[in-house]
Amino acid sequence: MKITVLGCSGSYASAGGACTGFLVQSPKANVWLDAGPGTLANLQDYLDLSELTAIVLSHEHADHWLELPVVYNAIRHYVLCDPIPVYGTSGTLKLARSMCESIEESFRCNVIEDGDAITIGDQKWLWSRTHHYVETLASKVEVGHGSFIYTADTGPEWDVGSLGSGADLVISESTFLSEREKEKILHLSARQAGKLAARAVAGELVLSHLAPGEDKSAHLNEARSVFDGPVSLACVGKQYII
Ligand SMILES: [Zn+2]
Repeated sequence: MKITVLGCSGSYASAGGACTGFLVQSPKANVWLDAGPGTLANLQDYLDLSELTAIVLSHEHADHWLELPVVYNAIRHYVLCDPIPVYGTSGTLKLARSMCESIEESFRCNVIEDGDAITIGDQKWLWSRTHHYVETLASKVEVGHGSFIYTADTGPEWDVGSLGSGADLVISESTFLSEREKEKILHLSARQAGKLAARAVAGELVLSHLAPGEDKSAHLNEARSVFDGPVSLACVGKQYII
């Protein structure tokens, strides 16, 4: 399995960056996980839209899915491939339908929710509802003996153990530093992301979704203070092979 970072900015894209998105590739599937603004351009560095097997959207916040109506137009008017399966929460798909008048021309919409599990090509997907302002689904993907977890957006009350123990790679949101934990915002600090990775028995932790202006080295230091494995920061174009 190969995971490519298409975007990792939290809330809005940094200069030259993109909001959240990943490409999850295996021998039999190419899945676009979260389609944040800016990720469509980067996705096409790796494959054509017609080569996508499916799109998975974690939740309805704009920075995680708003490329979809643009992809709708691209497929409908230019790419002309078969409709692509889209898996998302009911709220996300409701918004998508409101922005794409004949959505079935480009997508086959499938509502997913907490505890759902499906196989896409040779990728086994499992979802768990996180602790966030709207229905939000974290993902675990397994291909053969390799696995990775993507937290999507979550506050600290979500238990990553709901996705089972052990993951070669955890890509966790790390929106701010621990000094802001007292504000009770439903996102994770870098320290909480590190604790989550330890709880997940992760082989490696990647920090993503840093809010604009965050101190990147401080995020790494905080996560490393509570997680013994390798910790790095997501950046556009970085690839992880499991
Ligand atoms: Zn969110």
